[in-house]
Amino acid sequence: MSEEKRLIYLDNAATTKTNPKVVEAMLPYFTEFYGNPSSVYEFSGISKKAVTDARETIATSIGAKTQEIYFTAGGSEADNWALKATAEAYSQKGRHIITSKIEHHAILHTCEYLEKQGYEVTYLDVDENGVVKLDELKKAIRPDTILISIMFANNEIGTIEPIREIGEIAKEHGILFHTDAVQAYGHVPINVDELHIDMMSASGHKINGPKGIGFLYIRTGVKIRSFVHGGAQERKRRAGTENVPGIVGLGKAAELAAANMEERAKKEQELRDYLIERVLAQVPYTRVNGHRTNRLPNNCNFAFQFIEGESLLIMLDMAGICGSSGSACTSGSLDPSHVLLAIGLPHEIAHGSLRLTLSEENTIEEMDYVAGEIKRIVERLRSMSPLYEDFVKHGAKK
Ligand SMILES: *Cc1c(COP(=O)(O)O)cnc(C)c1O
Repeated sequence: MSEEKRLIYLDNAATTKTNPKVVEAMLPYFTEFYGNPSSVYEFSGISKKAVTDARETIATSIGAKTQEIYFTAGGSEADNWALKATAEAYSQKGRHIITSKIEHHAILHTCEYLEKQGYEVTYLDVDENGVVKLDELKKAIRPDTILISIMFANNEIGTIEPIREIGEIAKEHGILFHTDAVQAYGHVPINVDELHIDMMSASGHKINGPKGIGFLYIRTGVKIRSFVHGGAQERKRRAGTENVPGIVGLGKAAELAAANMEERAKKEQELRDYLIERVLAQVPYTRVNGHRTNRLPNNCNFAFQFIEGESLLIMLDMAGICGSSGSACTSGSLDPSHVLLAIGLPHEIAHGSLRLTLSEENTIEEMDYVAGEIKRIVERLRSMSPLYEDFVKHGAKK
């Protein structure tokens, strides 16, 4: 990349920049306080205390007890653990799980795995804004339902789910409620008691913390099998020498996220709404995907008719803008995202989708530049599209 080329990073739902304060907090635990928290000498007590402090910070941030926080190697592991281990522990009660069609693959692929193991999974529909239908949830509940797993906020379209209502329904029926809060934790206030959450997954690298560290909240009393067998770490439920620097980094990131959550959300939301308005005003035949107000403060998701999201992404990249499309590009497949299909977008419109997820470091000036580049690139791509040409000639008159 040439030096003068600007970089506008708008892919914070994929990962975030590690806060330098987080790195600073982590550093001593590599070369100075490298002791194993399980050892008995005083030196390792420093590592042990650092892990305990981080656990406390995180517990406080969601209204949980310290011993209800279990560190994992990220959000995917926490999701896998929550589902597989409760499925196993509650298999005497039943083998039915309820989730939604718009979950992250860490949930969906785990559910598919469980189906192969003889579990039954109901995948709930969502409405056109990506909100889980509560009446469908109620109808899906059976005597053998053991778990409801619904994400807190969607990673593609940013829609925030009615978590309190879902928690209440689960509680009424005596069913466990897990939520993948990887996109929500640190961005919106969460209290596990008020929302009746029994298990919750979160991840460091989505909140300006390090990659490869996350946690699973498990309410006291929930029967759950250990996920990694070995030593007695994490109350014998997740073996392996603690990733002390990672845990310290996660704790610091959680502390920083909680400290300015409101202010950050307000700033991101202003930038988000400004960008959405600019793009809608400048680019015809465009829609916003996801709930218009009940959405993550930093999430914009557009669908532009008559273009390919992949081409748009490549051209935005040339303009120094990092975004993400509605295709499942991670798997190298060009199928439109399951989330966009679940909200009812036809394939061709889902293909023209673009996700831009902001941070508090972005500026209005950047949003002007981004909106201008989107307008320029979409016009260019449409000018090359036979579909658009046809539409302008015939369709527009309808
Ligand atoms: C990123 C993400 C995950 C996976 O978290 P990792 O820490 O990358 O494993 C799971 N669920 C959602 C909603 C995510 O956005």
